[in-house]
Amino acid sequence: MNIRWQRLHPPTALCHCATCGQRFQAKKQVPHLFNDAYLDLGPLCPQCFAASPAQLRERMLRYAYLIRLNRLRHPGSQDHARHLEQSAREPFIHYPGLLGWLRYWRRR
Ligand SMILES: [Zn+2]
Repeated sequence: MNIRWQRLHPPTALCHCATCGQRFQAKKQVPHLFNDAYLDLGPLCPQCFAASPAQLRERMLRYAYLIRLNRLRHPGSQDHARHLEQSAREPFIHYPGLLGWLRYWRRR
């Protein structure tokens, strides 16, 4: 998985978190989660972005589980659940910038 910053046009937007479903207000730029095939899974809310890699995987699997139970509405939901489950099994999460460097360093 890869996390990359994306600029918002217009500069503020109501986003729908890709890994927990929460709605949040983003400003100027928002982190997006990509799988190893560079499919854009969507934006991450501040809580998911701040979560540890293990917590993020947990959130992804829990959210996929809830989608499969049909308790939530999400655009393209069943496909999204499948992508979340597949991506959660990918061995590395690459975070952007200094934060990514620090997290990589901390993991060793
Ligand atoms: Zn979230």
